[in-house]
Amino acid sequence: MARYTGPSCRLCRREGKKLFLKGDRCYSDKCAVTRRASVPGQHGKARKKVSEYGVQLRAKQSTRRFYGVLESQFAEYFNMAERKAGMTGENLLRILESRLDNVVYRCGFAASRKEARQLIRHGHYTLNGHKANIPSILVKAGDVLEVKTTDSDKIKAVVEANASRPKPKWLDVDTAKLTAKVIQLPDREDIDLDVEEHLIVELYSK
Ligand code: SF4
Repeated sequence: MARYTGPSCRLCRREGKKLFLKGDRCYSDKCAVTRRASVPGQHGKARKKVSEYGVQLRAKQSTRRFYGVLESQFAEYFNMAERKAGMTGENLLRILESRLDNVVYRCGFAASRKEARQLIRHGHYTLNGHKANIPSILVKAGDVLEVKTTDSDKIKAVVEANASRPKPKWLDVDTAKLTAKVIQLPDREDIDLDVEEHLIVELYSK
């Protein structure tokens, strides 16, 4: 499957905000957005008036990059969100939040969504007692995630390093047993993503 292999920090600088793609470094003074806020490239420092389309595009791109989702998959999620009852923008964010790689990251069982994807593919987690090695699985209320710590020291170290990160209230995380239960899917106020999701809806509605 195609994936972005370029520098992660460049994506944050392009969007002009932290997308938290690199684990610990994102919370330190070494963060590239903190040190060099300009847009990357030769003309990055030039101020440009951004069109309405440009604003909508940046909202979509920053959300897509935040969750590490490819263009076609993001469009599929949008179609799913449109078919559900309620606000399409909120539905879209709820679907993205319920991806297994995001849930693993939110639980503190990986340093970043990218690392979560890799560890999931290597079979380090179970969902409802079954091996779960597909990062795009969508969890639902009542699902139970578990870390298979017996697998390796690496996974234990990762979990220990991220155990203190604040956990969202829609997940009941047991850091001692290394399990987490999805209490309910998140409401908009539970999602700490700085984006006006109606801009994404407007973009796809053109
Ligand atoms: Fe983005 Fe993290 Fe790099 Fe900062 S350190 S620019 S938040 S990926």
